[in-house]
Amino acid sequence: MNFNAINIQTIKAEWLQQKEISLDVLRLDKMHDVVSGNKWFKLKYYLQQAKANNKTTIATFGGAWSNHIIATAFAAKEAGLKSVGIIRGEKPAMLSETLQLALNAKMQLIYVTREQYQHKENLMKVFANEDWLWVNEGGYGALGAKGAAEILTTIDTSRYTHVIAAVGTGTMLAGLVLSSTNRQQVIGISSMKGNLVLEEQVQKLLPASIKENFTIFHEYHLGGYGKHPAHLIDFINDSYNKYQLPLDIVYTSKTFFAIKDLAEKTFFKTASKILMIHSGGMQGNKSLPPQVLAF
Ligand SMILES: *Cc1c(COP(=O)(O)O)cnc(C)c1O
Repeated sequence: MNFNAINIQTIKAEWLQQKEISLDVLRLDKMHDVVSGNKWFKLKYYLQQAKANNKTTIATFGGAWSNHIIATAFAAKEAGLKSVGIIRGEKPAMLSETLQLALNAKMQLIYVTREQYQHKENLMKVFANEDWLWVNEGGYGALGAKGAAEILTTIDTSRYTHVIAAVGTGTMLAGLVLSSTNRQQVIGISSMKGNLVLEEQVQKLLPASIKENFTIFHEYHLGGYGKHPAHLIDFINDSYNKYQLPLDIVYTSKTFFAIKDLAEKTFFKTASKILMIHSGGMQGNKSLPPQVLAF
């Protein structure tokens, strides 16, 4: 796949200046128009494993606006593999843009009820096929973390004191922990309400020696996963107007919101140099009516 250059954006804001801290944003969202961000990194080694084991197909799970589904469809196609997406919920009368793009990338979509979707082990038995490599929802797993560890190798990160990213399954966070130095603090902002197994999920992907080297904040879900109250929409538009930083409603807006809130509460010591990972994933925004967002 052809990727655009990833770049770093320095945020100039009063709320940073006042506390004498700096914030750079690693713009993974700029990598690719559709497969933006961390999903590509997380898929890399699953694709390799599929090929090494002579699998023809990558099979995975996701919802109608899933960044992971679309990334899998594109990445598999690019790698010369077929793809299957097990989609949560009945087939909608009108396909979401995400599902339409996945279909265009030749992904086979299989719709299952929300109840069936809860039991993925069972679905893997129902659709068992020896030519398929199953990838967990969101790319969760050690291979996903190994790929995500490469995010920090795209730039020189040695000057940063903090690396901060959004958390869904925790795979990306585990990768960031793997590739950060032990002088750097790795902080995850959970996009879910009360998902308190996350710490353990991340630890499972890490060797014993570095298991504790990260923190997850659970109080920035702003109502829950995918919830986007009016003040969050205002915050997104404001961030775009002030910094030309486009954020998504599910993950990166809540992370940016958290960084600002933590800065205002003097969580970061003077002279802290923060790197925020803009993990991309702009699919969620397409679920909004037009004109809601300023970009
Ligand atoms: C999927 C996704 C995440 C969460 O990544 P995990 O590895 O599942 O924690 C964060 N940000 C964006 C934009 C995503 O699409």
